[in-house]
Amino acid sequence: MINNEVLSSALRERFGRQPQLFIRTYGCQQNVADSEKIRGLMEGLGCIVCDDPSAADIVIFNTCAVRGHAEDRVFGNIGAMKSVKTERPEVIVIMGGCMVQQPHIADSIRKSYPYVDIIFNTNNISELPGRISGFLDTGKRLLDPSCSEYTLNEGIPAVRDMERCRAYLPIMYGCNNFCSYCVVPLVRGRERSRRPEDVVKEFRECVQAGCKDIMLLGQNVNSYGNNSGFGVDFPDLLRMLNDVEGDFVIRFMTSHPKNASKKLFDTIAECGKISRHIHLPVQSGSDRILKLMNRNYTREQYMELINYARSVIPDVYFTSDIIVGFPGETEEEYLQTCSLIEEANYYATFSFIYSKREGTPAAKMPDDTPHSVKAQRLNALNEIQRKVTEKLELGLVGTRQRGICTGYLQDGTFECRINNNAEVTVTGSAEINSFCDITITDYINRRLYGKAE
Ligand code: SAH
Ligand code: SF4
Repeated sequence: MINNEVLSSALRERFGRQPQLFIRTYGCQQNVADSEKIRGLMEGLGCIVCDDPSAADIVIFNTCAVRGHAEDRVFGNIGAMKSVKTERPEVIVIMGGCMVQQPHIADSIRKSYPYVDIIFNTNNISELPGRISGFLDTGKRLLDPSCSEYTLNEGIPAVRDMERCRAYLPIMYGCNNFCSYCVVPLVRGRERSRRPEDVVKEFRECVQAGCKDIMLLGQNVNSYGNNSGFGVDFPDLLRMLNDVEGDFVIRFMTSHPKNASKKLFDTIAECGKISRHIHLPVQSGSDRILKLMNRNYTREQYMELINYARSVIPDVYFTSDIIVGFPGETEEEYLQTCSLIEEANYYATFSFIYSKREGTPAAKMPDDTPHSVKAQRLNALNEIQRKVTEKLELGLVGTRQRGICTGYLQDGTFECRINNNAEVTVTGSAEINSFCDITITDYINRRLYGKAE
């Protein structure tokens, strides 16, 4: 067991002051939530957060491995630590998260990035103080990317950044789906759900702290509680949270279509505090590619879900993730994805060119489409989405909406996040992080404008 007081005074002694901490977070909301716990834990050791990595004593990179591009950015940013460590050798550089939890990346850090001192595994954040203490005692780099146990990181206080006016609340960790392109199950371990009472407790704390927009996180929230014996599935959990007293919006991410049930949509329809926005990533509109991706649904089944949801929640907005250029994807198959965007009438899609990930089944599949063709396809697909989005946003003009004021712009207008997650620029006034009623008045240059009521 690490004695926090001993460790914090050792750190204070090393730096001659309370350690200044800089955390850089890459990737998804789950990583942001992990970083909030890392911050809570490090503040417990006397660290003070600062926003300048070159002035910090401890620099932590919480990394992402979902696509190669994210990894390239991390390598670029840790390269910059070389000059910091040359000037102030006492600085401690720490890396955690999905990217460095891959053994081949940990190896290349060992060989090519001598100024990284510690790697830790975010599946068990509470091991971090032990690693820092071990490094202080021995002066030796600690670069083992594994952890003793895959945990729920329970009991570590999250220090939330409320500037974004949204709280992230993980309800589960890991993933059992093994989509053939995806590295997440390899680095985040098997799916495990937090106990419903722990989720409800943290949710209440968020509400009591004034959070109005709370987003539940999991790689596939629809399998919440599976094999855990709670007797509470995701729709049940949603209902429990909807029943918490207070004024707030519940959002969730991500919902895998293969486990999305009628019960989920019925629950959303019946619970007024759940956002009418559902992120339901389809990845592809071609059944052959969906099969190769190991997604476990067909286009028809997916559209049945969308249509059912719309029948019970008429004002629902769907968004999606799409992968363009999966190995072997033909022009015809790509066009099927384009047509699905129109058929599903997505409010927005987050589309990516397929990125080969070491250790995944798709990495072994032949891929003969040139990158330039994939890039053209991505552009054309985004253009189709732009038109679909435009129609939906034009349809919002003239409607009344309830949203949350998220901050003021220099010209005195404010940003309002409405129920479907869209941002509207509003004239009038409202208190930051509070609900306000607005009317949407205009749609100009792909921006919604409104006035407060
Ligand atoms: N668990 C979530 C997604 C996590 S990753 C889900 O299943 O929806 C977020 C998105 O990144 C995925 O939806 C997918 O569109 C994209 N992605 C994941 N692996 C990728 C890869 N190898 N190449 C390109 N995009 C990828
Ligand atoms: Fe990756 Fe699929 Fe799991 Fe999402 S559900 S994290 S895409 S393996």
